[in-house]
Amino acid sequence: MRIGILAYQGSFEEHAHHLRKALSTSGLEGEVIPVKKRMDLTSVEGIVLPGGESTTLGVVAERMGILEDLRTAIHDGLPVLGTCAGAIMLAKETSDSKVKIKQPTLGVMDFAVVRNYYGRQRESFQETLDMSRIGAEKVLVPFIRAPAIVKVWGNTEILAELEGRPVMVQEGPTLATTFHPELSSSYAVHQYFLKIVKR
Ligand code: GLN
Repeated sequence: MRIGILAYQGSFEEHAHHLRKALSTSGLEGEVIPVKKRMDLTSVEGIVLPGGESTTLGVVAERMGILEDLRTAIHDGLPVLGTCAGAIMLAKETSDSKVKIKQPTLGVMDFAVVRNYYGRQRESFQETLDMSRIGAEKVLVPFIRAPAIVKVWGNTEILAELEGRPVMVQEGPTLATTFHPELSSSYAVHQYFLKIVKR
């Protein structure tokens, strides 16, 4: 299987490492490729949208002409894992300090986010999350200038929570986390994503 990572910005290397580990520990053959151009998208069976800055990700993806292709591919069932800024890209509603904002996003999942909900870089933190809903052990994960999921509706399911707020959600083959699983010592989220891709 071939998994792409949108590679304009952010934690590409860490996601690639976690995906390779998840492939080998799941007994799967596969490769991980960077996605930058529209052509790159045509050969992948799943894609990761990494953390970074969602405004930059959205603007560059739009300029490269990939945003629309990606939206169509997701509507056609391409599995996606969006982490932090990647999760913001997936949400149908985005706001910044409670004000609705316009920034280019994919807007494909039934949930609303507030960007930078927990404050600035120095307010970043780590938390141990209960991952039993994806059949995994508890994991310690970082939240870095993280968004909060403030509303979930329709077909979006909550897979993990922190203090009563969803931090990992799924709608069909599309997964979003407000934390950074690629910066943790666990491969559980990536393994779970590969299971979805394999289906
Ligand atoms: N604060 C960033 C944004 O709003 C997300 C931060 C991250 O991806 N670690 O896009």
